[in-house]
Amino acid sequence: MVQTKMSKFRTVRGMRDFLPKHAGKMRYVERVSRELALLYGYKEVITPVVESYKLLAAKSGEEIRQRMYAFKDLGGRKVALRPEFTASTARLVATRMKNEPKPMRLFCLGSLYRYDEPQYGRFREFWQANYELLGSEKPEADAEILILTNDLIERLGLRNYLFKIGHMGILRGILSQEGIVEESQNRIMQLLDKKQEEEALRVAKDRNVSERCIKTLKTVLETRGKEPSRVLRRVKEEVQEYEGAVAAVENLSDILELAKDSGVKFKMLIEAGFARGLEYYTGLIFEPYVPQLEIALSGGGRYDKLIELFGGEPTPAVGVAQGIDRLVLAMRKQRFSPRIRGEKRVVVIPINDELKAKAIELSLTLRKAKIPAEVEVMGRTVTRALEDADRKKATHTILVGPDELREDKVVLRDMKKREQKLVEIKNLCKEIM
Ligand code: AMP
Repeated sequence: MVQTKMSKFRTVRGMRDFLPKHAGKMRYVERVSRELALLYGYKEVITPVVESYKLLAAKSGEEIRQRMYAFKDLGGRKVALRPEFTASTARLVATRMKNEPKPMRLFCLGSLYRYDEPQYGRFREFWQANYELLGSEKPEADAEILILTNDLIERLGLRNYLFKIGHMGILRGILSQEGIVEESQNRIMQLLDKKQEEEALRVAKDRNVSERCIKTLKTVLETRGKEPSRVLRRVKEEVQEYEGAVAAVENLSDILELAKDSGVKFKMLIEAGFARGLEYYTGLIFEPYVPQLEIALSGGGRYDKLIELFGGEPTPAVGVAQGIDRLVLAMRKQRFSPRIRGEKRVVVIPINDELKAKAIELSLTLRKAKIPAEVEVMGRTVTRALEDADRKKATHTILVGPDELREDKVVLRDMKKREQKLVEIKNLCKEIM
């Protein structure tokens, strides 16, 4: 057996290379996300991968804080690789975009870093498309973010998905009225996010909440269902003595009603005790799922206090982070692959060494007409070059030969039909398209 040389270098644990097929799918989801941003009026901003540790740690939640790629740069600054986009957006809105008219619709897309334990659908480097709607506290803003997320998932061809929906105000309303400080509330939310309900209730008990509170919390945590109006009516009855929680239920009803009345249909699972790990959420929270994956495709919600926390004007805001890696996984699970129609791929093959420059020249002409073209650069025989063009599924090849060139012509070969003809160079692009 022939021993081939193999480098010992590998990617760092949790980091991935994307080979062309996978990279193509990631870029496809990115493209659709960008199109959507344009269609909904979200303007793109590009923020740095490296941010100050303090900014990122301020409000992201213990879970993420402990998993940040944090380090001192050579200037001794404590910095970290961004684990999410919202802090950076909030920083922008609190500083350089402070005076922009509201509402502001911002979009950002890129890679994020969390030192998570690598497992299926969980990586240390992953990608998100992020949409933030800033300046409105109205339910129509929340509805827009939900509808936009539904739109993206639909455009990606996913089926049978379901939105898990809740409202941070329900649990926080109860806990606040019981005098639980925000820090303890956050602890409880984190435990609930990790499905540790017993533990969460114990923390509440340790803070001396009333018997009534524990009873209400228990029922709220169990209340879920697919029919929004019915579930929310039930929750409202359960929390009726907690003013803030009642307001939260009403707010959620308004949001879901708007989505429904606008004719948008998606399956929902309303969970009154749904909590998300990020500390800054104040209102609606949601996560879409497909049955084939147990992990959320995206995560969104309202965060009305964050901009203020970073020194900006009080600015209500709602947003969503679409997980590009997981959307690709879901597409693969559901065996959906986008058909990109009418794509041409041309290989230009010079018949001898003297015609190399002419082959390059022709490839440039094709590209000017937006026809993807590759030039044979291995010095192979025509037969070999044609075999290779077949392997890479070229739609056409162009054979550049001296006799034909003398008449300003080349041989154009249709690789699928396996036919070839002499074509005048000036008509080449037209013939291919
Ligand atoms: P979060 O910022 O935690 O609300 O997450 C929003 C979305 O980002 C999730 O629903 C995932 O799609 C994606 N996401 C978060 N963490 C990871 C990770 N470690 N690997 C891959 N995707 C992730």
